[in-house]
Amino acid sequence: MERVWLSIGSNLSNPLQKVNNAIKALKDLPKTRLVACSSYYRSRPLGLKNQPDFLNAVVALDTNLAPGTLLIYIQKIELCQGRIRTKNRFGPRTLDLDILLFGKKIIIENHLVIPHYDMYRREFVLYPLSEIAPDLKLPNGVLISNQLQQVPFNGLTCWGKKDV
Ligand code: ATP
Ligand code: CA
Ligand code: CA
Repeated sequence: MERVWLSIGSNLSNPLQKVNNAIKALKDLPKTRLVACSSYYRSRPLGLKNQPDFLNAVVALDTNLAPGTLLIYIQKIELCQGRIRTKNRFGPRTLDLDILLFGKKIIIENHLVIPHYDMYRREFVLYPLSEIAPDLKLPNGVLISNQLQQVPFNGLTCWGKKDV
């Protein structure tokens, strides 16, 4: 069994429903148990500014799946929730599931890079992650609580609060 941390994001077509459905689907994955789920956060879009806010969350799984197999499963979940891949990496999307960490594995392959290459800088990843893993030591050797001190909120708030 490996402990895996996944980030979830959505900013189109009823994000709340998309994220709830994604979490249900993650619970049903074979050889896998969902062990924790953060609150739902609202974040400002990265890159292209003219698009809706994102709903973001982070979940912890324990799994016996191999990393590449888990990637295939999460891409299926994205497709089931209506994701259409566009050229713009930072454009709007119905659902995005990224593998942040997979135990202590370091993987550098064409289709899979773990730890996620940008997780140390993204407030919408680090704050939800720290909520469910407050004592986590990141693969760069830094405690998550210390890493957070380098990463401003950038407007991150609770999903339920629209006006902040
Ligand atoms: P970003 O990776 O900057 O968050 P994105 O999530 O929007 O951008 P996608 O279009 O969802 O990017 O994915 C592009 C490719 O990234 C996927 O086809 C997948 O093969 C690859 N990939 C590499 N590492 C990972 C990972 N750790 N988790 C999920 N996908 C990954
Ligand atoms: Ca992503
Ligand atoms: Ca992705």
